[in-house]
Amino acid sequence: MTSIFVTGASGFIAQHIIKLLVSKGYKVVGTVRSSSKGADLVSNLGSNFTYEIVPDISSPNAFDEALKTHPEVTVVLHTASPFFFDTTDPEKDLIIPAIRGTENIMNAIVEYAPQVTRMVVTLSDAAIYSLVDECNPELLFNEQSWNNITYEEAVKDPVAAYYGAKLFAEKHVWKFLKEYPGNKLNFAVTSVNPVYVFGPQAFDLEVKPTLNTSNQVIKTLIELGPNDAFELNMGGAVDVRDVALAHIAGFEREDTIGRRLFMTSGQFLSQMMLDIINENIPSLQGKIPRGTPGSGPQDIRSLAKTDNSATRNLLGWEFTPFKKTVIDTVNQILHVKPVPKI
Ligand code: NDP
Repeated sequence: MTSIFVTGASGFIAQHIIKLLVSKGYKVVGTVRSSSKGADLVSNLGSNFTYEIVPDISSPNAFDEALKTHPEVTVVLHTASPFFFDTTDPEKDLIIPAIRGTENIMNAIVEYAPQVTRMVVTLSDAAIYSLVDECNPELLFNEQSWNNITYEEAVKDPVAAYYGAKLFAEKHVWKFLKEYPGNKLNFAVTSVNPVYVFGPQAFDLEVKPTLNTSNQVIKTLIELGPNDAFELNMGGAVDVRDVALAHIAGFEREDTIGRRLFMTSGQFLSQMMLDIINENIPSLQGKIPRGTPGSGPQDIRSLAKTDNSATRNLLGWEFTPFKKTVIDTVNQILHVKPVPKI
């Protein structure tokens, strides 16, 4: 039975990946920051999931011991990386862990896990364009595009830092492969570059008071009153279940080697989420903002265009529609904590 090593196992996306891996009969070794997080995962995932503790992916040699302990692992999925914006030191909290975590896992594979043949790394659309360029309707981005942010620009604020972090991490990956002496690395790499990832948590128990950064956008909307102002969020959207499937394709299939899987099912605005919720979730009707129904598709034209047809053609399945993603996410939140009756 193939054994897969997944960094950041407690994460929103990672839990979906691991749930899928276990359902397909793989054994999974995850890294988590504490034994309590590991124990929660074991109780959700069963005995084909075990864990190793890696408190900080940016510490020197962070993954060495964990990989040494598991000579049976032949595939590494590197998902761990900070994804939040609430920091006063974005370089320390976002950029450095993203880069060092990536360096550490690649070095650990080379030094201690020569049996590993495939690696999939969770990157981002933030490596494809800058926030400024994403909002320029004259531009078009695809799998060949690169964010042009510099390190000096990236350290300035948390959002820029997140974009820079994912870019610098990805640059390291491809540079490491290209420059490895003699081109004799034992493992091949695929990157998964998602836009905003939404969808239900892998397990109802993960519906906590605050959700992971992307899903919190939806949770915040449904906690507003009908007359409250809502924050304008916009960008690409993709369902977490498609992102999990892409990680599996990233190591099971030969034709994904060396590819950047640009995972987007389309673009969204907060208004479009509100429209879907107002039209499809009866228990929230009249209880959340209405905004300007129907204005989303017009307003979205202020964003740059994206074209991920190369990824879609390669993967070959229909991505989950945004409407289903939003409805499933909201229904799970309400199932765990129903809206009180007035
Ligand atoms: P989560 O915050 O849910 O998961 C992040 C994971 O990384 C957690 O397991 C977290 O551990 C771990 N982690 C973060 N920093 C460290 C650190 N310094 N040391 C050890 N572990 C660390 O985020 P997602 O699941 O949403 O994101 C997973 C990946 O996908 C990230 O690489 C993110 O950049 C990328 N991504 C996410 C998108 C989204 O919309 N969700 C969009 C595009 C890319 P802990 O929980 O203990 O803090």
